[in-house]
Amino acid sequence: MTRRAGILLAIAVVVLLAAAPLYVASFTITLLNYIGIYALVALGVVLLTGFGGLTSFGQAAFVGIAAYATAWLTTVEGASPWLGLVFALALTVLVAALLGAVTLRLGGHFLPLGTIAWGLSIFFLFGNLDALGRHNGISGVPPIFIGSISLEPTTAIYYLIWGVLAVATFVIANLLESREGRAIRSLRGGVVMVESLGISVFRIRLITFMIAALLAGLSGWLYAHMSRYVSPAPFDLRMGIQYLFMAILGGSGHILGAVVGAALITLLQNALQDVLPHFSRNGEQLEVIVFAIIYVLALQFARGGVMPFALRFLPNRAWSTITSAAPLPRRTMPASGTPLLTVERLFKRFGGLEAVNQVGFAVNAGEIVGLIGPNGAGKSTVFNLITGALPSDDGKIIFLGQDITRAGQRRIAEAGIARTFQHVKLRPGLSLIDNVLLGTYLRTRSGFISGALRLDRAEETRARSEAQRQLKRVGIDANPHDLAGNLPLGRQRILEVARALAADPALIILDEPAAGLSRPEKAALAELMRGLRQEGVTVLLVEHDVEFVMGLVDRIVVMDFGAKLVEGTPAAVRADPRVQEAYLGSVA
Ligand code: ADP
Ligand code: MG
Repeated sequence: MTRRAGILLAIAVVVLLAAAPLYVASFTITLLNYIGIYALVALGVVLLTGFGGLTSFGQAAFVGIAAYATAWLTTVEGASPWLGLVFALALTVLVAALLGAVTLRLGGHFLPLGTIAWGLSIFFLFGNLDALGRHNGISGVPPIFIGSISLEPTTAIYYLIWGVLAVATFVIANLLESREGRAIRSLRGGVVMVESLGISVFRIRLITFMIAALLAGLSGWLYAHMSRYVSPAPFDLRMGIQYLFMAILGGSGHILGAVVGAALITLLQNALQDVLPHFSRNGEQLEVIVFAIIYVLALQFARGGVMPFALRFLPNRAWSTITSAAPLPRRTMPASGTPLLTVERLFKRFGGLEAVNQVGFAVNAGEIVGLIGPNGAGKSTVFNLITGALPSDDGKIIFLGQDITRAGQRRIAEAGIARTFQHVKLRPGLSLIDNVLLGTYLRTRSGFISGALRLDRAEETRARSEAQRQLKRVGIDANPHDLAGNLPLGRQRILEVARALAADPALIILDEPAAGLSRPEKAALAELMRGLRQEGVTVLLVEHDVEFVMGLVDRIVVMDFGAKLVEGTPAAVRADPRVQEAYLGSVA
């Protein structure tokens, strides 16, 4: 199918939906209303779980808070539903912020566990507070009015629900294509790389969690004023699990998976409620069993959900072309020859192993310095200490006059150090250009709101142009929209170099960048590093290919068994008998 056919299809769907009240029964409109209301919650789950890698079972509780908040304010206090909306959303997001602040720093399983505990307790709270009508709930919730138009009829609130859903989907889709959205998409698969780019994993997780809660809150508000009645039952943990499955069944890797999943489960539930009573008097229990079977089958055979299948019949994504734009601002490089990095008596112990023992050396601006030594000598650990990926046990690290010994990865990245990893840390499911764009995070400013509203386009164009320039510089710019995971390993290392360069660092630290490269590729990499030196960028690298290192670097530091053995020019190091004995003896 072509792009044009895709647009026609989208228009046809919108027209069909808009005209639905004219040609379908009112019961079908009610079903569509529920699908829209559920899809809003599922959209938050797609963002949170599918893109951000965080699992929440507690979204139903957020729907409940918003529904109760607006029900209480509009019935007991007699306020307008629009005031109820503001109150409901503010309360929901506040609770999410508190819950997230407590659990998100702990990482891993704490958020899912926290949301389960939270989902259970809020349900009991609803059922036991006198002010909220205990198990009877709150009835007589007023309908929404837009001016003098009442949205009481099913067919009227239908337009509001699907309008809100369309806008929310559009906004979240924009966000995902923006600077902070890329940060959300980088969350899956380890935090060290993300923090090394200056991105606060905690902040991104917390805001993503709050956005998902906001969407649940919108849903709760619509629900309360559509059904005109709230009680605890629709907000229990079982519903929370169902929202999660809507996203998974629809396809949590795709923004439209939310609608698809909400529609599938709602229609299926409706069909089962028609059919099952014919087989058993315990239709409701049977329904739970049927759903459990479907969930297990889906997890087993279609983990990606329905969207990947549907996408085969839809047009390929049209990539926006990368236009060249004004470069991003650059940092002023320190004058060549001035002290850039000083490492003193660095010490790191892993259990009984002294991985780095009293290592000290200095790097001047504009130098290329090689760190060599046999496997296990402690080279990568030294890099991890300098970049803050690991805390040091003792010693001191000074960079550009600042003590960065305890600074943490993000501050070190801000100070101007970029790095690559010995074990490549990319996002294989993101494109080459998106991986490199992550490197520009600290050089750009656009936040969540400007990303969601597409106010970031000027800066985004510049960042994309910069990322493409870095891809070109390392020689892998032919297919910027290919997935990083499809590159051979050697090229993935080079992609990491491009990502590091995109940060415009004063010091670039490369851990075995040439491993897995062919001879011509290695020569090109050496040429690239000489070019960097010309620009005033300082390079510190680990490399095993002794000929490669000797021909490239200004100075060499040799490590063995965690300690520094020798330091000097390539010629001096090569001539040193200790080095020949410990390391080069077998190679040189
Ligand atoms: P190199 O990069 O020079 O090959 P490393 O710095 O990776 O060496 O490792 C130095 C020593 O520290 C090795 O013996 C390695 O097994 C050990 N080591 C490295 N990282 C860890 C870790 N996170 N936990 C325990 N031991 C580690
Ligand atoms: Mg190593």
